[in-house]
Amino acid sequence: MVPLCHFYKMNVIIMDWKPEAAKELEKIPDSVRKMAKMGIETSVEKKGRSTVTAEDVKEAVERVGALMEKDEKTTKIAVVRCDIVSETCPGVACFKAFNKRKVCFGEYGKNTEIIGFFTCGGCPGRRVFRLVDSLQKHGIDAIHLSSCMLMDTGYPRCPHIDEIKQMILKKGVKVVEGTHH
Ligand code: SF4
Repeated sequence: MVPLCHFYKMNVIIMDWKPEAAKELEKIPDSVRKMAKMGIETSVEKKGRSTVTAEDVKEAVERVGALMEKDEKTTKIAVVRCDIVSETCPGVACFKAFNKRKVCFGEYGKNTEIIGFFTCGGCPGRRVFRLVDSLQKHGIDAIHLSSCMLMDTGYPRCPHIDEIKQMILKKGVKVVEGTHH
């Protein structure tokens, strides 16, 4: 029986790197260069060639770059809720709905983070304007108006909801009505 290591050696293709390809490889950071080199050689081998060109390296860099960009894009959201209701509600239902991507959070993928959970500051929503300002510095994508502000069962519906909504929209931030109902 042929030992496995021997079998592996018989199938290794020695890759020839064109000088321009080697130069392109040098541009890849040290920490990932070895791994990138292996990946590029495997891809060239799959194409049935044994010579790596500068185009092969550039193509691999673009491919990895696009993947990294896609991975890094995180949707950032926040929830504003009623200051009065916050006296008795810790917000568990809002977080449950978000964590399970249910009800008003159903559209979000796993790359979504809640970066703010705040109260309006009391009637008529006196804190909202300033807090939206702060959230914008952190790249907020959308703000949810909590269900407690919108419903009139259990808690009275917020009489200032339209002003609060307009205040956020005027800042250029998307508003989503509702959280867990
Ligand atoms: S403004 Fe609306 S959400 Fe804020 S405390 Fe008053 S009723 Fe509640």
